[in-house]
Amino acid sequence: MSAKILVVEDEEKLARFVQLELQHEGYEVQTQGSGRAALAEALAGSYDLILLDIMLPELNGLEVLRRLNKEKPTPVILLTARDAVMDKVSGLDAGAVDYVTKPFAIEELLARIRVALKLHPVPVSGSMEEKSDGLSSEEQLRWGPLLLDVPRHRVTMDGHEISLTNREFLMLRTLLENTDIVLSRDTLLEKVCGYDYAGETNVIDVYIRYLRSKIDDVFSVRMIRTVRGVGYVINAWKS
Ligand code: CA
Repeated sequence: MSAKILVVEDEEKLARFVQLELQHEGYEVQTQGSGRAALAEALAGSYDLILLDIMLPELNGLEVLRRLNKEKPTPVILLTARDAVMDKVSGLDAGAVDYVTKPFAIEELLARIRVALKLHPVPVSGSMEEKSDGLSSEEQLRWGPLLLDVPRHRVTMDGHEISLTNREFLMLRTLLENTDIVLSRDTLLEKVCGYDYAGETNVIDVYIRYLRSKIDDVFSVRMIRTVRGVGYVINAWKS
């Protein structure tokens, strides 16, 4: 079954070019040219991945991403013409799994699409509900009162839902799958951002800060520990 991709780009020539290239690779492709139409399409359809331009008419890409993220966990790769670090950080913070700076080589875009589809498979709805009683421990990770539900992409603390972006979720999941093992920034970067991520490792510190502000600070726990000069670890829960 071919992956379904939504291309959101208001420059028609570029949108058409990307669409043709993706179709040539065997993907099923839809395009949208405005933020509002894109959000509606993304919410109504079932896409495996969205390529989202930031500079869009009506709603900009970051706003589309924020609103989409509240509703469903479709992975998003941002297309940005700007090279500003702020754009990338706010894009990643808003939940994008990756970004590509325009102009891009189509091979680079295709490579990032393959990585994103592999690292962020969209759970199949329907089969998810049926499995609800028989989840294995691999699908649910526990740390005391905290529960990370992999197929549902949900994190709760004592039943209180914690809203995480895709990358924060992936980071927490990686740490919880490796309790008592100190993970270096490079290892986390590879897991969270993919092998071909070209940015700085301090982006990991930024995500750790976000996670602590959403979990440690709110629920008065010390979950993620910093091991100076090495990396980060979540120790196994001791009551
Ligand atoms: Ca644009």
